[in-house]
Amino acid sequence: LWKAHVEDRPVAADDFEVATNSIDPQAMGEGDILVELLYLSVDPYMRGMMRDSKGYYRQPFTPGQPLSSRGIARVVRAGPGVGSGFEEGDVLSGMLPWSSHAILNRRAQAALQLVDSRLLGKLPLPCFLGALGAPGMTAWAGLKKIAEPIKQGEVAFVSGAAGAVGLVAGQLLKTKYGCNVIGSAGSNEKVALLQQLGFDAAFNYKTTDTAEALTQVAPDGIDIYFDNVGGPTLDAALAAARPHARFLACGAISQYDTPEDSRYGVKNLMNVITKRIKLRGFIVGDYAAELGGEFHEDMSQLLLAGKVKALQHVTQGLENAGAAFVGMMGGGNVGKALVQVVET
Ligand code: NDP
Repeated sequence: LWKAHVEDRPVAADDFEVATNSIDPQAMGEGDILVELLYLSVDPYMRGMMRDSKGYYRQPFTPGQPLSSRGIARVVRAGPGVGSGFEEGDVLSGMLPWSSHAILNRRAQAALQLVDSRLLGKLPLPCFLGALGAPGMTAWAGLKKIAEPIKQGEVAFVSGAAGAVGLVAGQLLKTKYGCNVIGSAGSNEKVALLQQLGFDAAFNYKTTDTAEALTQVAPDGIDIYFDNVGGPTLDAALAAARPHARFLACGAISQYDTPEDSRYGVKNLMNVITKRIKLRGFIVGDYAAELGGEFHEDMSQLLLAGKVKALQHVTQGLENAGAAFVGMMGGGNVGKALVQVVET
């Protein structure tokens, strides 16, 4: 359960509480399904739902109630009457409550879809919440809608590069688009991993000044910036941009724990004008209907062919979900941060 809103400090593991409740399968109504949760995703956007913010694009969590996020569940029992067509044994993905089991009515079922059975057993289940889920789609669709057309050899910079979105974005920029790719991340181990995965250059933003690093590895500037972190990193990227660069405003995690009125004020915005930079924000869900099918086909092929590697950081046990969220916000994850609720 979510305890109480947190406005101006990082969220801590004890801001979450574990509660035990029983579920009575006999109480299932017309069309309901009973599911057991297999995996839950912990995501940075949830931080905005943990404060009492009015202008955020999602409703805040309700104190005293379970949190929710994308997850994977198996149908244990389909109740009487006509539901959404899900059957016992089906593996589903979509928005789910943070609980070991849940009875879902038709409305809740509308936010779920069958996991592609052609890929079950060929790709690990957590992949459907990572490279083949919302983070992968964020990278894939963001590049398609905002950065394209991309010329081979263009210089692309990805921040948050060892995370769920960043790892996919960097690998796509390299293997699909033929870019010269630079990544930044918060530890030397992450930097080494980025180099192993084919990034042309990578640096630790905690020990190297980003503006200096960009001058060194991209002396002629950058054409594409995939921004996962915002703040001073965005300033450094604006300074390093070439004329007509494309900037994808995907996330600004460096500012998520700071109240709105004290967030970092970007200083180099004038570069957007003088360098004719295209700077565009986006939310992945906007592209789901238009591009979801194409993304799924293309990304599953890239994953099966080993052209994009999917990495997951799995925490065991629903009772550790709060700690998993806190760990992810602090940089403890490599690839997609997830919670495994039960053994599969
Ligand atoms: P990640 O897997 O990248 O996990 C978050 C990472 O952020 C941490 O591992 C940490 O890595 C990094 N981080 C934390 N604090 C800071 C900081 N102060 N400065 C720089 N980096 C920091 O998460 P996701 O891949 O799921 O999300 C990445 C970004 O994309 C987020 O900003 C998120 O909000 C955004 N997003 C946007 C979507 C959209 O539709 N627009 C959809 C999905 C995600 P490190 O060790 O490198 O510091």
